Amino acid sequence: MKQSNRIWLPAYCDPNSFLPAVQETVVLFSRRPYLFQDFVGRALSFLKSEEVTKMGFQYDPKRALPCKWKCSDESLFGVDLVLYAYTGHYPFDKGRIGGVYNETALGAAVHHSSVNIDFGGSHVGYVPEKNGGSYGRIARPLNDRQTSTDCGYLMAALAPFKEVYDDACKNIFLFRPDGRQVIASIPNEFLQPGWSTNRIKLLVDIERFTTGPVPYNVGNPYTHKVAGRSLFYVSPEFLGGIDPRLPDQSFMTTEPQPIGNELTADYFSIYDSEAELVGGVPVKRFLPYAKYILSSKVAPYPLKAAVTSSNIEHNRLTDSVRVEEFRTASFASFTGVFIDIYDEKLDCYVNLFQPVGLSIKPAGKAREIEISAAEIHHIFDNLEPAQPQMSLEGVLGYERADHVLDSFSYRAEGCH
Ligand SMILES: [Zn+2]
Repeated sequence: MKQSNRIWLPAYCDPNSFLPAVQETVVLFSRRPYLFQDFVGRALSFLKSEEVTKMGFQYDPKRALPCKWKCSDESLFGVDLVLYAYTGHYPFDKGRIGGVYNETALGAAVHHSSVNIDFGGSHVGYVPEKNGGSYGRIARPLNDRQTSTDCGYLMAALAPFKEVYDDACKNIFLFRPDGRQVIASIPNEFLQPGWSTNRIKLLVDIERFTTGPVPYNVGNPYTHKVAGRSLFYVSPEFLGGIDPRLPDQSFMTTEPQPIGNELTADYFSIYDSEAELVGGVPVKRFLPYAKYILSSKVAPYPLKAAVTSSNIEHNRLTDSVRVEEFRTASFASFTGVFIDIYDEKLDCYVNLFQPVGLSIKPAGKAREIEISAAEIHHIFDNLEPAQPQMSLEGVLGYERADHVLDSFSYRAEGCH
């Protein structure tokens, strides 16, 4: 019988349990994001269109309440200003730190207006560089422009997971001692949770990653036990998944080499052994996605974290507007990822916005009409944007920031 270490995993981490899908970051970012100010202009113009009226959604700018749900980070202050400039109303706050959607604010918002226009999502800092910038940090002008994490909340929540994942990448070794089978030398704390006192546990999935333990043979020194480690034969499935174009086909050598970022999501689980659960699901709903966020080879992990979190919170938003209490109210909810850039020239933060989805719930309906990210781009790219109520120059301090959008040079690997 094949051995397994899955029995120690919480149910939500079991590789056999289904995890609802979230959007692929590389697909989403195969399209250029918008300057948030341009996005709002197009969004308001779209709401006035015949297409939306036909859905049963009545948009009267004099009656609609602009709402925001986003992190409290000051790098997102421009989002409030843009909504103010375009609508003439200060946006109602439906957000919490970390870009968490606050459904308890919904009753009050609907009390102010039965038509809510929502803009929200997670955010991520971006530092432009040639050939693709870096994610997860931003310069803070109030702190001598020193950089700090952005979104600080999401990065802090992921940091202990990142530390354990990086440690596993460096300390799981692969080698081929006798020129035949590839062997993995795995520290025992990555095989059974009791071997580590860290509350974050990373377990290599020996069912999938290996074909079984290496039997001890007195005449073969490489089969002799090393204190604190176990030896396994690596599965053909894992070896077949390694890109043969990689410069280091070093796993094929007699010298043990760290597994590095070949430790991908199919071959391990990572979880917080003290995470608060409700009904078997972590209260922090991104936790089951942590291994995908950390081990992606094609998407920078702070960006992937923001995309994942926006997906999860968008679900909470759409779920909350369907309840009977809000049946007569209408909602147009634009969800996306804010990309924050500190621009030296303007000496302020500028926000880009990559839409994740739009849901329109007309009054009287229980379910909303969903419009995908690809459709939003398709529709918006051919729209004449609405004009702001107040001059952007007066409210934001600048009219255009196209050079900031141009400085965004990320293209997902494989997408051009
Ligand atoms: Zn934040």
